[in-house]
Formats: sequence, C-alpha cells, structure tokens
Amino acid sequence: MRIDLHAHSNASDGTDSPAELVANAVAAGLDVVALTDHDTVAGHAEAAEAVRALPPGSGLTLVPGAELSCVVGGISMHLLAYLFDPAEPEFAAERELVRTDRFRRGRAIVERCRELGAPITWEQVQRIAGEGSVGRPHIASALVEAGVVATVSDAFTPEWLVNGGRADVRKHETDPVAAVRLVRAAGGVPVFAHPGAAKRGRTVSDQVIADLAAAGLGGLEVDHMDHDEGARTHLTGLAAELGLFTTGSSDYHGTRKTVRLGEYTTSPESYEALLAQATGAKPITA
Ligand code: AMP
Ligand code: FE
Ligand code: ZN
Ligand code: FE
Repeated sequence: MRIDLHAHSNASDGTDSPAELVANAVAAGLDVVALTDHDTVAGHAEAAEAVRALPPGSGLTLVPGAELSCVVGGISMHLLAYLFDPAEPEFAAERELVRTDRFRRGRAIVERCRELGAPITWEQVQRIAGEGSVGRPHIASALVEAGVVATVSDAFTPEWLVNGGRADVRKHETDPVAAVRLVRAAGGVPVFAHPGAAKRGRTVSDQVIADLAAAGLGGLEVDHMDHDEGARTHLTGLAAELGLFTTGSSDYHGTRKTVRLGEYTTSPESYEALLAQATGAKPITA
C-alpha cells in the first residue's frame, strides 16, 4: 500500500487542479492520497468527482482533509485534519476566518515587498493564486516572475518571506488546542503537520505536543522532507510515549516544490488507526 496523507491543489498553494492531483496520484502508483489544502475544502468536490470517474479497480482512495494554520506562543504551526464533516459550522467558520485574513495579509506582504524594491503587484498575486486560498507561495511565485529570486524556495529566506523575514506579515491563526477540539467536534482526526520543520522557523516544545495529545490529537507527521534524521527519531519516540500514530507524507505542492507525490508515505497500520477514529466523512474510492 502506498499512502500519501498530505497534498495541496490550486485550491490553496499547490499548482495542480484537484482533478490533476488525482490523475497524478494514480500515475504515481498511490493507493491513498489525502487532499489537505490550507484552510479550505474548496477542492474536495472536484477531486471526489475525478476519483469517481476513474475506471473501477484503478484503486485510488481519496481522503478529504485540510491543513489549518495555527499559532502557539508566537510559533506558527500546521494542523492536518482528516475526514471531518465540512458542513460543521464552528470549524467551517474558523477556516473562513483564516482564509479571509489571508487577503489582508497578502496585500500587506506585497506592500512590504514593494517597499523593499521588488516590483510585484497585488493584481499579479491574485492572478497567480486564482481561486486559491492566497498565501506566501503565491507571492513567492510573483517574486520569481519579477526576477527577484530564482525559485519559490529562494523567497523563503530572512530577506523576504520566511517566518520573521523582512516581508513576512502574520495572519490570523488558530490556537492549536482549540483547533484540535474543533476538528474532533466535526468528527475529524487531527494530526500535527511537520512538527520538527526547523527550517521554517521555531518549532514547538514537547510539552505543547503533550498538551495537544491531551486535547485529542491523533497523530504526528514524522516522515516529511523538512525533518532530519534526529527529528524523525525524536518524534517517533514522543508519539509512542503519547499514544499517537505516526504518518509520512510528501506535502506535495505541484511545481511549487521539488518533492514528488508518494516520496514519503504512511504505514497501513497508521492509516487504519486514522480511519478508526474518523466519524465526520468517509474516504472516496474509485
Ligand atoms: P502561508 O500559508 O501563507 O503562511 O505560507 C506557508 C506555506 O509556504 C507553506 O505551506 C509552504 O507551502 C510554503 N513554504 C514554507 N517554507 C517554504 C520553503 N522553505 N520553501 C518553499 N515553500 C515554503
Ligand atoms: Fe503550503
Ligand atoms: Zn504545512
Ligand atoms: Fe502542507
């Protein structure tokens, strides 16, 4: 079984449409792919339709999800949520709050970039983002178009967009304990995304992870490109101690990142544990 539980479409900062993502998941030989756009479920319907249109027995299962932007003690972190009821009003309202504030913050980042001499515009960023939940990767693509940096990754430096960088502006982000409870109340399963991704900025303490576990966290994403060997070993031990399952995933963003679909995967045992905890929605099969 090849199970990849974290991927983005152009409903947020990926470059594949949801249907293209499904086609690419089949081409990558995946059995299970989760669609986890930032703060939105806008890609779910198209992805589900694409899976249902696959030839029977092509074997792909879609796990609908999202990745919620959170902050604790000033440290930004991401909470993956799987198989929640997308219509549950409290969690839906929180996703909308984050998405709306992304527009204010996006404009402010563009303004900062212009002050710093980068000739990009909000109209350009909106064209790049399309209908997608707008974020720094879209602004990074604008910086690439303008010839300011060579790649999207090169825009995530202290000079430009990385957390705390010259052109970084904070957005509304949810308290993760509250977020874990919102996800559970919507029947979903919360998993802490890339908890040890040190290159993105400060990471949270083990105590915070223990607090999240006590609030209902289901798992930790361990196998991720932003984790070194030390982080993986540490998080594997911590998950065992706290009774959490562990996942692995590509965090695929299409051409905005170099990682390939299925480059990191989740064990069938962890996937079963996740399914056993979910009551808000069902996976969708070809
Ligand atoms: P935002 O959601 O607007 O705060 O932007 C965060 C997103 O930026 C993450 O979900 C990643 O997709 C992307 N990102 C963060 N760090 C990097 C990096 N070093 N290289 C490429 N993309 C990054
Ligand atoms: Fe992203
Ligand atoms: Zn993330
Ligand atoms: Fe992600």
